[in-house]
Amino acid sequence: MSFQLVKVRREHYRDRRGLDPLEGLMEVEIEVCSKEKHGVDSYLFVGSGEEEINYQREAIEKLSQERYWNDTVLKKYSDQIKIDKKAFQTSYDPYSKQKVNVIFGSSVKGNVKSRLQLTLQPYKGTAIACIYPSRILKSHPPIGTSGWRHFKIWEDSLQYVRENVCNATARPVVCLLCDLFGAPGLSSLIEFGTFYMTEGSTVDLGHEVERVAAAKPGSRFRGSVSFKAVKLEELGLLLIGMGYSIVDGRHKSMPVLLGSHKYRGLNRNLMGRVTYNVLNLKTSSRCKGDGIVTCGTVYEKGELENVLINALKAAFDKFGPYIKQIDECRKV
Ligand SMILES: [Zn+2]
Repeated sequence: MSFQLVKVRREHYRDRRGLDPLEGLMEVEIEVCSKEKHGVDSYLFVGSGEEEINYQREAIEKLSQERYWNDTVLKKYSDQIKIDKKAFQTSYDPYSKQKVNVIFGSSVKGNVKSRLQLTLQPYKGTAIACIYPSRILKSHPPIGTSGWRHFKIWEDSLQYVRENVCNATARPVVCLLCDLFGAPGLSSLIEFGTFYMTEGSTVDLGHEVERVAAAKPGSRFRGSVSFKAVKLEELGLLLIGMGYSIVDGRHKSMPVLLGSHKYRGLNRNLMGRVTYNVLNLKTSSRCKGDGIVTCGTVYEKGELENVLINALKAAFDKFGPYIKQIDECRKV
């Protein structure tokens, strides 16, 4: 295989204060693949244990009343406080008003952005997305070395070596994806909230050394994705980043890989196969709208399907030659 150096198209980034043409919010569900629905059972990594501070409240309160603080008192104080490892990553869900398992928005955003970076392949010597880290590969990574599975899945895209990654602190011009998802020195126009578990449960798939909390097949997480100053075709790109495609003229959400252990699996379990499903889309009343998507509207069911297929078609119309969707789950 020969590696080809390509240019990255960069333009001045858009005004971060703008809202037009589209500002809004999508409610999105991440579903862990199950045999019943997707033909295979998969688990999803949600955490390897977080630190929790435990102490006896009464003992601490009593110690706080000491008049003179010296080494002896301080030692008594510190002996009361223990830092334990908890098995699962949880957070307070403002909707269900209880602690539930979560996937942090930064993990989801990283997953969607990197899939888009790899899916948007160069065309006629020019890329519309940079890739971080941009490392120059001279050959396939040998089987078993770091990153070889990633390379195997995405080798069509990784045969191109993009110029340096965007950095808005150095130059005010960035690629399309950095304009949408942010770059050093540039805020994002698309934000991902925390995804809270709404259905399912977790199991510990780890061992004595490392505990691994994984959501069971069929588990569901719900979160929101907000956007501003994006065009309809860019909304379509966001959907493509979440695994949406057009199949027989209809939109379809294909299983994709998310989270740790997604390539190798864990203890002979498949890991990280999920689908992203948009549940509804709301536009703000402050934006102008873009074609069929109007301001101040809530799209659900049939109307939502119409928006999704039109956004995807707009993305393929505008960026078609660059879009090369890969079935990650089949290639892994
Ligand atoms: Zn970039």
